Amino acid sequence: MNTAHPESGFLAPYGAQDERSRGRRFPEPKPEFRSEFQRDRDRIIHSNAFRRLVYKTQVFVNHEGDLYRTRITHSIEVAQIGRSVARALRVNETLTEAISLAHDLGHTPFGHAGQDALNECMRPYGGFEHNLQSLRVVDELEERYAAFPGLNLTFECREGILKHCSVRNAQRLGELGERFLRREQPGLEAQIANLADEIAYNNHDVDDGIRAGLIDLTQLNEMRLFRRQYDAVTAEYPGLGERRLVHEVIRRMINHIVVDLVRTSQERIEASHPASIDDVRLQPRPLIALSETTLEEHRELMHFLRERVYRHYKVLRMTTKARRVIEALFGAFLANTELMPPEHHELAVRAEATNGSEGRARAVADYIAGMTDRYAILEHERLFDPAERT
Ligand code: MG
Repeated sequence: MNTAHPESGFLAPYGAQDERSRGRRFPEPKPEFRSEFQRDRDRIIHSNAFRRLVYKTQVFVNHEGDLYRTRITHSIEVAQIGRSVARALRVNETLTEAISLAHDLGHTPFGHAGQDALNECMRPYGGFEHNLQSLRVVDELEERYAAFPGLNLTFECREGILKHCSVRNAQRLGELGERFLRREQPGLEAQIANLADEIAYNNHDVDDGIRAGLIDLTQLNEMRLFRRQYDAVTAEYPGLGERRLVHEVIRRMINHIVVDLVRTSQERIEASHPASIDDVRLQPRPLIALSETTLEEHRELMHFLRERVYRHYKVLRMTTKARRVIEALFGAFLANTELMPPEHHELAVRAEATNGSEGRARAVADYIAGMTDRYAILEHERLFDPAERT
């Protein structure tokens, strides 16, 4: 059976390759007609956690409008950008796609507000990191296969999902945590997915921010990244309607930044000419990078969004509500795990038997992190609204 990666002749030596993968935690026979990384991607798409991303917020709560990004459309945009970059740099496009699609699987309901609130609740019990939770989802929480827990993904995919990690957690993660302790880089596919994530949200939050009426073109024109494309589009198409103008500007911004990313990364790769993925890991700095100017402009826009969108009073009201919901759910379930559905209560009992109060709290956090926005709101009503049926 020919199981060679269809792109294996196309791949640069520093891209991730099936034959040189560090493998899966539970060894499996090679897939037929697919590469190992295709199998990773397919397992991610078929997971429950992936489907839940449909109803998880990016910035705006799901019921605020149908056109706002959710975690699933965000993840797909990350994958699209990541794949373009991976292909241009001749590294593994499928692995980049898999990492991109999985990168937010562990995200809580209500975006960053939810993650911060759950982290706060979990502080006495080892904290809550959404990257680590994404790994927990694919390693342990998904129940789909007879032979192993989780999705049993390749080392390279798991390495990419675990973007950040505290030293304390890295020490407990064995092989996967080593790079954080040794300060090594992940593979290029992981580095690409990481920057594709930033590029995707920076640009789509401009679009969503305008749609929500939180920011306008005058404010955005103070941003160099936006202004450059705005001037070009208005010069070429005077009198263009605002909707098409905004979309054209954003389209060009993404293109500008992706082209810069590919060129800068190409230069870095050529300068250090890594012979393998292990050479990539030993580099003192990431090889996937933006040029200094573009990085500065990209950060300027990030800062702008933080101030004008994520901290806009309308968004703050929503995030404050979200925080209250998470805190209330956590407090109630931790005090009495029998309030959770029986399978989660049983997991909590078992976790407490082996890991004490930290285990019990982790089971509660797993249950809450898995919730969609609307499910969390519903659970909150069922627990706290006396008029609501349980
Ligand atoms: Mg993301």
